[in-house]
Amino acid sequence: MPTSHELTFENINPADRDDIIGTFPLSSIDDVNLAVSSAKQAYVTWSKMPAPKRGDILRKAGDIFTRRKDELARIMTREMGKPVFETLGDIQEAIDTAYYAATETRRLFGYTAPSEMENKMNLSFRTPIGVCGIITAWNFPIAVPSWKILPALACGNTVVFKPSEDSPHSAQIFAEILEEAGIPKGVFNVIYGDGLAGSALVEHPDVKLIGFTGSTITGKKIAERCGAMNKRCSLEMGGKNAQIVMADANLDLALDGVLWGAFGTAGQRCTATSRLILQADIYDQFINDLITKATNIKLGNGLNESTQMGPVINTKQLDKIKGYVKIAREEGGICVLGGDEEISGECAKGNFYKPTIFIDVTEDMTIFKEEIFGPVLSVSKATSLEHAIELANNCEYGLSSSIFTGNVDAAFRAIRDIEAGITYINAPTIGAEAHMPFGGIKGTGNGHREGGWTAFEIFTEWKTVYVDYSGSLQRAQIDNY
Ligand code: NAD
Repeated sequence: MPTSHELTFENINPADRDDIIGTFPLSSIDDVNLAVSSAKQAYVTWSKMPAPKRGDILRKAGDIFTRRKDELARIMTREMGKPVFETLGDIQEAIDTAYYAATETRRLFGYTAPSEMENKMNLSFRTPIGVCGIITAWNFPIAVPSWKILPALACGNTVVFKPSEDSPHSAQIFAEILEEAGIPKGVFNVIYGDGLAGSALVEHPDVKLIGFTGSTITGKKIAERCGAMNKRCSLEMGGKNAQIVMADANLDLALDGVLWGAFGTAGQRCTATSRLILQADIYDQFINDLITKATNIKLGNGLNESTQMGPVINTKQLDKIKGYVKIAREEGGICVLGGDEEISGECAKGNFYKPTIFIDVTEDMTIFKEEIFGPVLSVSKATSLEHAIELANNCEYGLSSSIFTGNVDAAFRAIRDIEAGITYINAPTIGAEAHMPFGGIKGTGNGHREGGWTAFEIFTEWKTVYVDYSGSLQRAQIDNY
């Protein structure tokens, strides 16, 4: 999309700050207006195209994502830092979502129900909503946009996408892929930039729905504006996810689980394990084993095959992590690994932070409560299952959760009692599959779910139709009773 002025921003490799990937336009209000007006115009024909025909285009997009998977993974890694084995998974999620959305276009089921009158038929079916504004974070630069954009398009909506200012290149490739797949002009539009472009999109009267993924603080602001403007708004926000380990668990498995949950994507996942709750009997030994294993995590540029953990996204995020570690120390936290250790060699060129573990973390401490979004794990001790669940629930967020236990009763109690949108049994807090509902409760969400069939609820309205073929005036609730 052409920009109406010259302002640009730099896209910087977080593993090597000297590597400037490119400059991208800082879209102006005029650009946002232009994008929305193209999307509004394109809606007229796209919304009337038979849904399975839209599905054919999405299937083709899945094929192109597959063809470009390796190339795109390297682009994403260079742009946002996580190792290539993770970015490959990110793209696979978009591939799965594209094929799922394509098949769903043949299954956008409505309901029929009997009428209370004779010679009358009641039907209901889904209709698209209009122009959707999609605003996302950078940590899943392809997967998260795909969860929103592909179902939105499948349902007959058109889209204006505002990716994070930290992952514009991935968004550009996303647009190239949809274009090659045959998405008609104006159906999918991208604007670039920061919160200013995002809020112009939210404010635009012709944007009928906002799909947002990002921090709770931004999400709440967007929800307020959408409320005032009577727009549908689906929010996926922050998390402070807990993994519980009971003494009867497979402890080796639980250890692997927490290492992946806490330090995968350098802790920068909404579903990252940032709190580990251990039953008292295994507390000391488990921590010792955890330190040994976490010490060996190999930091580095995610483009190197041996790298296990990449950098954090930018210097602002690095400073935020350091700030939380400082607060934790001031509040009496005991740091047993990492914590502002010097970064040397190649990593000194990037935003690297070593895996960090605080133990004996109590509920009143800031690192127990607030989302850090970095490789910092808080460990707390629980005296019983009930105590562990109480600790897990003492949190403003409610996205993901996990329990490792060999006791089936404990597992079912946890499923019932943990306050979170997602609960894993004997698996870490990360690992969503594209065809299952995804989202959180409490401070994480506002009642919608992406992923699977529930995404199609977000992007459609219901139309109810009564067909009266009696030839007479039949008054509901009056003539029959
Ligand atoms: P952020 O809230 O700073 O930014 C998210 C997006 O919103 C960006 O595109 C940004 O430019 C835009 N934005 C910022 N201010 C805006 C405004 N006033 N109006 C409209 N748009 C605005 O979040 P971030 O730091 O990029 O991402 C990290 C956060 O995202 C973490 O809290 C993480 O938990 C969350 N996240 C949640 C999920 C989920 O599914 N629940 C998934 C990934 C990330």
